[in-house]
Amino acid sequence: MFSWINSNSNRKKNSELYESVVEGLKRIYKTKIYPLEEQYLFHEFHSPPFEDADFDAKPMVLLVGQYSTGKTTFIRYLLERDFPGIRIGPEPTTDRFIAVMYGDQEGIIPGNALVVDPKKQFRPLAKFGNAFLNRLQCSSVNSPILQQITIIDTPGILSGEKQRVDRGYDFTGVLEWFAERVDRIILLFDAHKLDISDEFRRSIEALRGHDDKIRIVLNKADMIDQQQLMRVYGALMWSLGKVLNTPEVARVYIGSFWDQPLQFIQNRKLFEAEEQDLFSDITSLPRNAALRKLNDLIKRARLAKVHAYIISALRKEMPSMFGKDSKKKELIKNLGNIYLDIEREYGVPAGDFPDLQEMQEKLLHHDFIKFPPLKKPLLDSVDRMLAEDIAKLMALIPQEQLDHKEETQVKGGAFNSVAESPFGYKRGEGVDAGSMEPSHVWIVDKDKPKYDEIFNNLNPIDNKITGAAAKTEMIKSNLPNTILSRIWKLSDLDKDGMLDSEEFALAMHLMQIKLNGHDLPQELPRHLIPPNRRK
Ligand code: MG
Ligand code: CA
Repeated sequence: MFSWINSNSNRKKNSELYESVVEGLKRIYKTKIYPLEEQYLFHEFHSPPFEDADFDAKPMVLLVGQYSTGKTTFIRYLLERDFPGIRIGPEPTTDRFIAVMYGDQEGIIPGNALVVDPKKQFRPLAKFGNAFLNRLQCSSVNSPILQQITIIDTPGILSGEKQRVDRGYDFTGVLEWFAERVDRIILLFDAHKLDISDEFRRSIEALRGHDDKIRIVLNKADMIDQQQLMRVYGALMWSLGKVLNTPEVARVYIGSFWDQPLQFIQNRKLFEAEEQDLFSDITSLPRNAALRKLNDLIKRARLAKVHAYIISALRKEMPSMFGKDSKKKELIKNLGNIYLDIEREYGVPAGDFPDLQEMQEKLLHHDFIKFPPLKKPLLDSVDRMLAEDIAKLMALIPQEQLDHKEETQVKGGAFNSVAESPFGYKRGEGVDAGSMEPSHVWIVDKDKPKYDEIFNNLNPIDNKITGAAAKTEMIKSNLPNTILSRIWKLSDLDKDGMLDSEEFALAMHLMQIKLNGHDLPQELPRHLIPPNRRK
């Protein structure tokens, strides 16, 4: 057997490694960061404590956009099916946050029930109150994609004038909560109706600090012609540059993510390439999940540190006897200067500080006398953690990402359609070639004499070659071992660990498909099996 095929033990080792990173993060959080957060009331100011479920959760993708930009349709397109509670239409139809998650049993879990489930990561959302919980639900769907990722649909944001009705809950606060926990934020824009309302601008602002997670989809791009599309693209980049306020603007994917025929076909090739790029970005999420969690924990530790400096500095300035109220007012007013002092004294980067105005508003509701003084051991512990523990976990990760590549890929739904049966744009090519032939025809026969010649040079015994012999031939293709391993598995039809001449020809055929730039199937389609071996 090939070493690269028999990787079960490796696989087990790697998932243990993955678990050890996640367990390591949990331990670091509980023992080093949480005590600092608790001491300085971090949870009242910034974000509720992390729970085990936050670390254990599958990678999440958050979809945000104005109404009718195709968020729900995008999910439907990925899943290639409806999900419970789906509503699609021209008017803002999704009026709630929907966590589309894997479940054997399909159905809807209402928000109030969702936030008391200790196995799910949504418990802290209870703090946003009943008005919000009535607008939160989980749709349980039995879809293979969702075994790897969870998708969050959000209410459509209305354009300027129309958003008169108050939502009754802190919409941007909820977005912020998700932004801190998700792995990807996809902002959707409608190419034929590009406008950015005030609420949408505020929503995008709420995502600041998580720019690395943001990807942009310029959707419905097939509804306008090429020239208009270029204009819209330019306008979008310009607006985003202003709103996102970062030196580099996030990657923009142009496309039309629904199952309808294209209206303007000039851009077909572009859309296909963009779709594949976006899908491979999404499929990379599971293997990058540990790194993402680690990144977010570092961000949080840094904020917890600077928060501790701020709170203890305010405490220090308070008088012990008279004039407490006026001093508090003065300190809040001068908070900007206190930030500067901390920046200088402790060498904290300006970017680590919480938003000044928000902090001023929150401080109004606190009694500074009750704030604790600076406790250096707590901060030292976090510093040591950032320097040492994080480095150790970091060292585990690159290897892990490489090894998880094959097994943690997101599969199913639209991802498989692109990978396996590329109808719509590669009909009759790649794996599909030969599928329209009469049933006695085996497309591999065409090149079999050529493959037989190679086969015979590999010294077959009883019309069979060993895995080792096949390997020496197959690696000449320069294809990665993961791919060759899949080809081997697909070709060894009788699973005897050897290849006969038919199986070998099939392996060569599959390699050719891959070398021609097409994708391999998850399972061998019937037309690629020799006719006499079809069941
Ligand atoms: Mg919707
Ligand atoms: Ca065989």
